[in-house]
Amino acid sequence: MTTPSVSFEVFPPKSVDAAFKLWDTAQALAPLAPRFFSVTYGAGGSTRDLTQDSAHVLRRTSGLPVSAHLTCVGASVAETMQTAEDYAKVGVTDIVALRGDPTEGQDRFAAHPQGFQNSIELIEALALTNKFTIRVGAYPDCHPDAVSQHANIQFLKRKFDAGAEEAITQFFFDAETFLRFRDQCAAAGIDKPIIPGILPVANWASARKFADRCGAVVPAWVDEAYRAAERDDRHDLLATALCTELCSDLVDEGVDSLHFYTLNRPDLTRTVCRALGITPQSALRDVA
Ligand code: FAD
Repeated sequence: MTTPSVSFEVFPPKSVDAAFKLWDTAQALAPLAPRFFSVTYGAGGSTRDLTQDSAHVLRRTSGLPVSAHLTCVGASVAETMQTAEDYAKVGVTDIVALRGDPTEGQDRFAAHPQGFQNSIELIEALALTNKFTIRVGAYPDCHPDAVSQHANIQFLKRKFDAGAEEAITQFFFDAETFLRFRDQCAAAGIDKPIIPGILPVANWASARKFADRCGAVVPAWVDEAYRAAERDDRHDLLATALCTELCSDLVDEGVDSLHFYTLNRPDLTRTVCRALGITPQSALRDVA
């Protein structure tokens, strides 16, 4: 089996305790020489400054590329582009450009009156600046807002045509789901990289809830396996085994890059990486 390259998603801290967790996560995972870290953008833009600060510190201290997430929710075009400019000012020129989810209490995404209507408008505006490497989201299990898998893939194609260079997928539980999606994207003429998003499951109840919200299909056997593992106090063992198997199935099918949703808990991710043959290379530098 060839060794894949990896990247890691973290979220910005909202407390001193959380800041230590983020730092520990970076310390634990940077030595695995990821292609980049990505830093999420809180629902409704709630972590705008924290995302920027975390991305900046992570970039400066790790010396690694950092991709800051940016959504269209709750902000005008001018405000969203100002956030992008602020990222660029501190040297963060990789962006994961997203539409974002509906705000609390709303069923469907509603654009800000002066805001971007969808992710494509955001991607086009970012591409016009010529300052950013743009990544976007992709949905192997189909996005809940897409009328069909065909529409889901056509929309992804439009995102690449608008200037995206790479897509990262929502998490999924079955390698086949990703491989089928990859084939359908290729058949639709998409020739840019689509990187599988991998969720090492630290807590099955939360992962299950999140999967329901974002439309990730949970096979019945996975649900049953976690229920049995929790009963026998073997949750982490199962999570490690399933995640490692998923990743190695993907690598066996020619996937050469994996993106881990770490949830700022590095242990499972590190164990899975080790099982895939990804070993530490160098330690993270101290804060400058
Ligand atoms: P889009 O791809 O723009 O739209 C989703 C789907 O809706 C499309 O597949 C398309 O079928 C349909 N659609 C939308 N607009 C149209 C249209 N005009 N015409 C036809 N069809 C349309 N959320 C956060 O709040 N913060 C984050 O940091 C964050 N990080 C993420 C990282 C990754 C890798 C992924 C996959 C998701 C992330 N999300 C994040 C969640 C994301 O915001 C939601 O999934 C959101 O619902 C969709 O955003 P998008 O840009 O992928 O949507």
